[in-house]
Amino acid sequence: MKCPDCNSKDIRRSRRRGLWEGMILRRRNEAPFRCCACDLRFIARNEALDPGRTDHYVPFAGYLGLAGWPRRVFTDQMILSSLLVATLLVLALAVIALAFSWIDPALLRLDGATPPPNR
Ligand SMILES: [Zn+2]
Repeated sequence: MKCPDCNSKDIRRSRRRGLWEGMILRRRNEAPFRCCACDLRFIARNEALDPGRTDHYVPFAGYLGLAGWPRRVFTDQMILSSLLVATLLVLALAVIALAFSWIDPALLRLDGATPPPNR
């Protein structure tokens, strides 16, 4: 691959800027590159530097466009375990709410049947 401006071959991958560019370019299998000679930033097909590999692993943080310390903090394990803990907390709260009658079980009937008369 050559720089479209100065024809230099000294090209390196540039970081995708934000969520929008990340999603659009990944979908088109394109990536931003930067010319080390003239500092031009340009978009090109991704396989130019990485031939034959289109299914490389992308972490969640990559899809979210995170860079720097948030990318190191929000690892896949951290994001997945946070979602799991949040889901379990909501389920536990729902069970507790039903067990202690904070929620009237009749309210949860979605079949259109009329709730039984109050005790
Ligand atoms: Zn250049």
